[in-house]
Amino acid sequence: MKNILVNDSFHPCGISLLKTKGFNVFEGSYNGQELINFINSKSIGILLIRSATQVNKEVIDACPTLKFVGRGGVGMDNIDEVAAKKKGIITFNTPGASTTAVAELVFAHLLSIYRFVSTSNKLISENPDSVKRLKKELANGRELKGKTLGVWGTGRIGCEVMKIAISFGMEVIAYHPTLDEVEFTLEFFDTALDLRIPISPLDEFLAQADIISLHIPLNDSPVITKDIISKMKKGVTFINTSRSGNVDEVALLEALNSGKIAHAALDVFNGNTELLQHPNISLTPHLGASTIEAQEKISDELAKKIISLVKNQ
Ligand code: NAD
Repeated sequence: MKNILVNDSFHPCGISLLKTKGFNVFEGSYNGQELINFINSKSIGILLIRSATQVNKEVIDACPTLKFVGRGGVGMDNIDEVAAKKKGIITFNTPGASTTAVAELVFAHLLSIYRFVSTSNKLISENPDSVKRLKKELANGRELKGKTLGVWGTGRIGCEVMKIAISFGMEVIAYHPTLDEVEFTLEFFDTALDLRIPISPLDEFLAQADIISLHIPLNDSPVITKDIISKMKKGVTFINTSRSGNVDEVALLEALNSGKIAHAALDVFNGNTELLQHPNISLTPHLGASTIEAQEKISDELAKKIISLVKNQ
């Protein structure tokens, strides 16, 4: 039980904590049969992963020593939870650790789009003599203050995005299929303000938002479809930091080409080259949770969870 395989890279703080508590920590980067072989050769009881390792039924069925599987981050997409449950394996994740990191990335994209930050970088580095011309060409940036941000999905990240948006002086509207309103607390200096945002009917939400940011788990089929896009305001900015499968990327590309969606920011995507090379797209390679602070929180939370689970066994 005290043998742990840390199979995707983790911040060292949690690993040190586990070692001080007497766990034998092995670090690796295995998948498939190699993963099975390693777990069995070291009698691994606890497996810690991020998104790269697939803990599927084959792995679960072939590794009888495995008792806990912890995933750093939100979602359990890469763990077969049904198979794990059947074998009595406890699975867990760190849902809140990356909330701030993802929410801030939304605004990194948004500010970059609204003020041509990455476009400027690209154009100036391609042609350093173009600065005077670009100053004129890129003079029509926009301000976030007063714009309406539509947050689709009002869980941890969606609420954090709304808090930041309010600090920018934006109007916020929210959509959720079953809730009537969403509550959160805005903290500043030594004041805490409890806010309630009513949930908008979908058609109103789509028609009113200048920017739509998606914060839902992976749904069974895309929620951002051709039909949904057709109901959005012309010239909307669309941001997806959730899961690529939530967006019909063919419909997104069509909308970017027609100008229905003026700009899109994607942290998660499937890789259609025409979409990825579109001039009005802002991309990051799934960096949502990739801050030093989030990595520390993920590593620390997983280590503490394991220590408490093993203590209570
Ligand atoms: P959460 O569970 O706190 O909130 C998700 C909310 O979406 C819930 O309120 C749920 O009821 C709602 N929801 C589900 N389906 C919906 C739908 N079709 N329409 C509207 N609402 C719907 O999750 P979270 O922590 O806020 O994470 C949100 C998303 O962010 C997840 O997909 C997660 O995988 C993703 N994420 C991405 C990164 C990254 O690196 N880009 C990092 C962390 C999380």
